[in-house]
Amino acid sequence: MENLKCREILEATGGTLAFGDAELDICSISTDSRRVGKGALFVPIAGERFDGHDFITSSLEAGAAASLTQSSLTPEVPGKAIIRVCDTVEALGKIAKYYRKRFAIPFVGITGSVGKTSTKDMVAEVLAGSFNVLKTEGNFNNEIGLPLTIFNIDGRHEAAVIEMGMSGFGEISRLTSIVRPSIAIITNIGLSHIEKLGSRQNILKAKLEILEGLHNHGTVILNGDDKLLYGIKDLVSFKTVFYGMEEGLDYQAFNIKTEGEKGTGFELTVNGRDYKIHVPVPGLHNVYNALAAVAAGIELRMDMDSIIKGIARFIPSKMRMDIIKHKGATVINDTYNASPQSMEAAINVLKELAGNNRTIAVLGDMLQMGEWALNAHVDVGIFAVSKGVDYILTVGASGKNIAAGAVEAGAEKCRVHSFERNEDAADFLKELFKEGDVILVKGSRGMKMEEIVERFTA
Ligand code: ATP
Ligand code: MG
Repeated sequence: MENLKCREILEATGGTLAFGDAELDICSISTDSRRVGKGALFVPIAGERFDGHDFITSSLEAGAAASLTQSSLTPEVPGKAIIRVCDTVEALGKIAKYYRKRFAIPFVGITGSVGKTSTKDMVAEVLAGSFNVLKTEGNFNNEIGLPLTIFNIDGRHEAAVIEMGMSGFGEISRLTSIVRPSIAIITNIGLSHIEKLGSRQNILKAKLEILEGLHNHGTVILNGDDKLLYGIKDLVSFKTVFYGMEEGLDYQAFNIKTEGEKGTGFELTVNGRDYKIHVPVPGLHNVYNALAAVAAGIELRMDMDSIIKGIARFIPSKMRMDIIKHKGATVINDTYNASPQSMEAAINVLKELAGNNRTIAVLGDMLQMGEWALNAHVDVGIFAVSKGVDYILTVGASGKNIAAGAVEAGAEKCRVHSFERNEDAADFLKELFKEGDVILVKGSRGMKMEEIVERFTA
């Protein structure tokens, strides 16, 4: 981060200086009292289990130059500053918004129901062919993580790729007002967070909030195979480009060739010329992510050769399509998260990698689905059977409905097993598997199904 004066923090937040000197320099911003560096601004956050305000004094003593506070108590530590604001999380966003304005570089904002992190990493890898890129680390995509990401930008960066997450209305709106992207990507409109938003139309509306922050001459890059996204074709005033596999889209993948663990090859016509592209991770869903990255690269006037090389360099983040070999079996660790869409995508990969080998799907609850949960889980079971998955092991309360769906779709009962706990599923898997099997493990984050992979491969 480049230095900010306390005075600028006051200006950005509209806060008041409760103690200290407005000319103090701030050289980093942290919400974690254990990690505050020398000269940092500590931003205490009142969480469910801890209140950061309890650590203001210790942060200052540990080297922080200043702290925000939303409480009326003002610890007075000589040489340090205290800035009082109404709400520290909101203030964090306001500081990020202020700081972002220093950088006249392209910002790519990415939202969508699934595939944000994968797309973000792919876009960043492509842009790295021409720019010094700052990207969201991991999944720092919310009202706290996103501002912290913005503070990582400094004068050396030439482009920023920022992931934006949400669980309800208004959240993307706040995030996009900080980022002010020049390119906005929406990966798809699925069912994640439907519990809170009530309908797919509402999910679309919430994701489209990203356009509120888009520059006037900005570009929207949308998955054209997503009917809801394609439906806004003539409704937005921005330059809009669509990608996908359907005929007639701006970036349409054709001659798609799946190559198992090696990934997928496809062709693409750009400005009348055909190009061959290789995505080094399995799954057609990653072709979509790659197409978004190609579109972003072209918008930023990169040449196709660098774009293609960038995609070839892509390495997925942890727990997403992570392929592990164990005693002759192949394990697809896709335990980072699950939604109906990504379950189907992962089952497709399972079948693709297995060829004629046996397939075992270890599937857990998809959380936060409210009244949609029952049908969504049953549908995953039906889908798995329709694809010919040989064994289905489920974990969790909703997982049982995946099993019910599988049986309903005609799976033999002896090939469908439900467990309450990850360790029981792992132990059963140890007994069940044979050399050559391909095993998919996937469930929502809260299910921590990486425990199954760890216990199975231990
Ligand atoms: P989160 O909301 O947790 O931040 P995300 O939108 O960032 O999720 P990823 O972490 O990229 O999504 O991927 C989540 C899961 O969805 C993984 O299992 C991944 O393999 C799968 N996935 C990635 N891209 C797509 C896509 N375009 N369509 C469907 N599934 C996808
Ligand atoms: Mg993510």
